[in-house]
Amino acid sequence: MKSFEQSAAIYNEAVNLMPGGVNSPVRAFKSVGMTPIVMESGKGSKIYDVDGNEYIDYVLSWGPLILGHAHDNVVNQLQETIVKGTSFGASTLMENKLAQLVIERVPSIEMVRMVNSGTEATMSAIRLARGYTGRDIILKFEGSYHGHGDSLLIKAGSGVATLGLPDSPGVPSSIAKNTITVPYNDIESVQLAFDNYGDQIAAVITEPVCGNMGVIPPENNFLQKLRKITEENGTLLIFDEVMTGFRVGFHSAQGYFDVDPDITCLGKVIGGGLPVGAFGGKREIMEQIAPAGPIYQAGTLSGNPLAMTAGFATLSSLTKESYEQINQKIDKLAEGYLEAAKSYDIPLTVNRAGSMFGVFFTNEKVTNFETAKTSNLDYFSQYYRNMIEEGIFLPPSQFEGVFLSTEHSDEDIDKTIQAVNVAFSKINK
Ligand code: PMP
Repeated sequence: MKSFEQSAAIYNEAVNLMPGGVNSPVRAFKSVGMTPIVMESGKGSKIYDVDGNEYIDYVLSWGPLILGHAHDNVVNQLQETIVKGTSFGASTLMENKLAQLVIERVPSIEMVRMVNSGTEATMSAIRLARGYTGRDIILKFEGSYHGHGDSLLIKAGSGVATLGLPDSPGVPSSIAKNTITVPYNDIESVQLAFDNYGDQIAAVITEPVCGNMGVIPPENNFLQKLRKITEENGTLLIFDEVMTGFRVGFHSAQGYFDVDPDITCLGKVIGGGLPVGAFGGKREIMEQIAPAGPIYQAGTLSGNPLAMTAGFATLSSLTKESYEQINQKIDKLAEGYLEAAKSYDIPLTVNRAGSMFGVFFTNEKVTNFETAKTSNLDYFSQYYRNMIEEGIFLPPSQFEGVFLSTEHSDEDIDKTIQAVNVAFSKINK
């Protein structure tokens, strides 16, 4: 049995210092019935806790570390940058370099504004959509998470779903009433909402592949149909690619599915492990942002040199082959999960879209939040704890995806599949 003595001691202090002992709710490991594990360091595909336990890491800081921990290119470029100063509140060349890369790589982005988190990106994107269209209503999907902005924290996924929380207290009803939610992959419900409110809907915001109710890909050309309905109604289509951006594929989810949104939100991989978000889109729309236009958005640390450097080092280290390699590892992992499920008679559904990957403990096809919730959460938490014992660090929530990096080796995948077999064999039914 692994020892978590140091983790427990640090967490016991933390609960008196920070709400729930953490700075972001899912880190409290509540849904898997464990004391949080406190981390100390990482290198490549491995992460190490304060008790000296080693894990193969499939959390990767919830997605950003697509090159693994402490990648040489990222560390070296950060070292060169940091000695020149950490922030100037004035323009730097690296902002142009990262913006240029983003514009080259994400098909629909002609101009981009850097921010500091995914939440900031989505909040700013919906302000832009409202300002641009002169409309107030936002349509989002049940179980999608777009950060914790008021308008978007309605029927949300991620930690909100993990903790089984209702819509958050503190969101004024006057704001909540401007958000319509419908089930993901349900184009009839979208059409119905447009039949009733079409001329008032500023934007439809969606994760092109859901990653915050577990991984759920779009079905039956759902994204293409959203594109058509929004165009017909003068509504903007926002792809929240905070998770899928530079993750699903080299050209992000919009390249993978060949659908161009009007506005794209980015986060996670774009910052390579430092706090970066961004929103971008068509020039005509982006030029409405201050100081080019009247819609206000700003940030003291936005475009921070260290953050831009980590993002640039990460994106410029990725090639199309990087994604092919990650995909091959996921193919093998997915096969391993399905075989283990068969061997130990565990109900299991595996969902994939490019380099996004997730499993549910159910035999039902998972296409939306309702079907995601058919996953056996008791099996999930037993599996989770068994995997930790086997040295595999996974997101401590059913309602999240599993992330791989370019540094995960075949040996890592073999070890993980072995661990899945042990974990499944020990599940008490
Ligand atoms: N949108 C999506 C799709 C996300 O997955 C997340 C974070 N998991 C966010 C927005 C919010 O990003 P951040 O946590 O950086 O504010």
